[in-house]
This record gives sequence, structure tokens and C-alpha cells, in this order.
Amino acid sequence: MIETKRWNLTENGSINLSMLREAADALVAGETIAFPTETVYGLGADATNEAAVSKIFQAKGRPQDNPLIAHVATKEQLLRLVENVPAYVDKLIDTFSPGPITYVLKSNGSCAPNVTAGQSTVGVRIPSHPIAIALLKACNIPIAAPSANLSGKPSPTTADHVWEDLHGKIAGLIDGGATGVGVESTVIDCTQATPVILRPGGITREELEDVVGNVTVDPALEHADPALKPKAPGMKYTHYAPEAPMWLVAGGNEKLQALIDELVDNGKSVAVLANRDSLEKLTVDHKFSLGETLEDTAANLYDGLRYYKKADVDIILCETYPEIGIGQAIMNRLRKAASKYIEE
Ligand code: AMP
Ligand code: MG
Repeated sequence: MIETKRWNLTENGSINLSMLREAADALVAGETIAFPTETVYGLGADATNEAAVSKIFQAKGRPQDNPLIAHVATKEQLLRLVENVPAYVDKLIDTFSPGPITYVLKSNGSCAPNVTAGQSTVGVRIPSHPIAIALLKACNIPIAAPSANLSGKPSPTTADHVWEDLHGKIAGLIDGGATGVGVESTVIDCTQATPVILRPGGITREELEDVVGNVTVDPALEHADPALKPKAPGMKYTHYAPEAPMWLVAGGNEKLQALIDELVDNGKSVAVLANRDSLEKLTVDHKFSLGETLEDTAANLYDGLRYYKKADVDIILCETYPEIGIGQAIMNRLRKAASKYIEE
């Protein structure tokens, strides 16, 4: 166990510079610090320091073959980590960065080998959260930062989620309140003539296509064929799982209600995660509202997946969402979180 320091950088609306300096100095000294980004909380360490980066893998229990995303404050810093940058990446960076998008490009070797998990490519992103940007500028080094959760659990969207998973295992946590987007960045492979989505996320396929035309999706994400290996190693692991088993149920409220009634008749304690309108129509003891719009659902999703503990309920049911816009990222996460998918 190590002591985890907790800072609240924005208690009075502006960033407390002496606390920011303390957190930045700890990163430069090779410690692990969790901080908010606009997607989820990240667990950061100096991306050029192999020993510092190994502390991330240790704290999270992350498989060694799953590479980390390097976070930087500016386009110039991003370009300093990579080579062979296609022209369309320039356009994407100018349109979407800072923001929830990660570019996988050929590494020039500046990051420690465990950041890239020994691959020749590196994933790089410029976050837009004011605390993340201020921290990156204050330490002036690339920061490797996966989501700040224990591997396999839902990603953290509040400082309390991080604390629940990692206190005693990391040097510090910056509390910046709830994150905004709620699902992780879109990861795109930019080593080919056409960009390929390796993980759907905060920037949608439709938004990318508006800027660069044709964008494809890693076939391993769209087919349930186990022979297809995802190009983002992280996509092959069980992920985002709530404590109690969760079933994803397509087909609407009537079907959901019938299933609730059947489970309750069999003595089960049931919880439902759903849109506010759906919840109003359902009769069930435990309800968690994911909000109204798809954007609300993304923002509330991981809080919902963490909300019910094993001691409270036997089973969690969750409705499905249309796979348009951010709905693609939502359904990707829900499929991975669910132990069973009851299709229409
Ligand atoms: P996390 O930071 O925990 O949200 O996970 C980062 C995701 O990006 C994982 O799915 C990784 O496998 C993926 N990723 C990071 N770097 C690369 C890379 N160089 N090539 C392919 N996927 C990557
Ligand atoms: Mg993660």
C-alpha cells in the first residue's frame, strides 16, 4: 500500500497552481497520478520512463500486451513521437484535437517500449479537459495514461470511481468532478491509406467521414467471429463488467417487462439500466436512469455499470441503443459488459 494523495484543483472555479505543480512534479519524478480528461479519468505516468510506466500496469493489473495511449498538450508534441504521418491526419488533428480521438501512428521510439507493448505503432491523443491540458503543460513530457480503473472494471467517470479502484496503489488523484463525454476516445489506425476505427468512442464515424471521406471499422469489432483478432489489443479483453451479471435486452419495453416479471417470479432481485422514458414505463424495484439522449447515456453509462453491487441485486438488465453517432460506442461497451445478449 502507498499513500494516495487527493487534490481538488478547482475548488473555487480556477485551477490551484501550487497543487498542479505538486502533481506535475510527481509525474516528472516517475510517480503515477490519476487525472480527469473529457472522456474518463486517466492514470498517468511519464511515457518516456519505462519504470514509471510499469507502475501503471501494476496498479491496474493490466495485461502486458495491451498498449497505452500517450497524452500530449499540443500538435507539435504529438508529431515529435511519431513518423510517416499521412496528410489526412493533419486534417483530423486540426478538426478534432484537442478532443476524444487517439491516432495510432508509426512510433519513432521516443516512448518507452512498454507504452507501445512492443509494437511499432503508438497511440497518441491531445485531451481537451482544462485540468489535463494544464497538467500536461506543467510537466512538459508525454504522459502515458490508460483509464484509471482496475483492469476489467467499468472505466471511471468520477474521482470516487478512481478512489474505489486504486487508492493505496497510486501516488495521487486529482479530483476534477465528473468527466463530460463519459466513454473513451475513438482510436483510429492512421498507418494505412484510409483511416480505420479500432475502437468506437467520443468522435463518431459520421463526424470523421465528414472530414476525410471514407473511414472503415476494424472487422473484428463488427462480427462476432472469434477468429478475427482486433487490431487494438485492448478490445479482445472482457471489460466494463458490473459486479452482478448483466443481460443486454433488445426488443423494447414489453419484452423487458416480461423478462423482469419472470425473473422476479423466480425470486430474483432485478435492477434495470435504461433511458428515462423507458424506466417510467417499467415496473421494477431497482432503476438507474441513463438520462434522455444518447449523449446522456454515454455520460452516465459507467456510473450505471458501477452502481449496483453484488450484495444489492442478482441481475442487471439493460436496454439496447441505436448504433448511430455515439450509440456505436455505447453499444460496443455494453456488449463487452454484458454476460448475455438477448437479441430481438
Ligand atoms: P484505455 O486507455 O484503457 O482506454 O485503452 C486504450 C486502447 O487503445 C486499448 O484498446 C489499446 O489496445 C488501444 N491502443 C493503444 N495503443 C495502441 C496501438 N499502438 N495500436 C493499437 N491499439 C492501441
Ligand atoms: Mg481502459
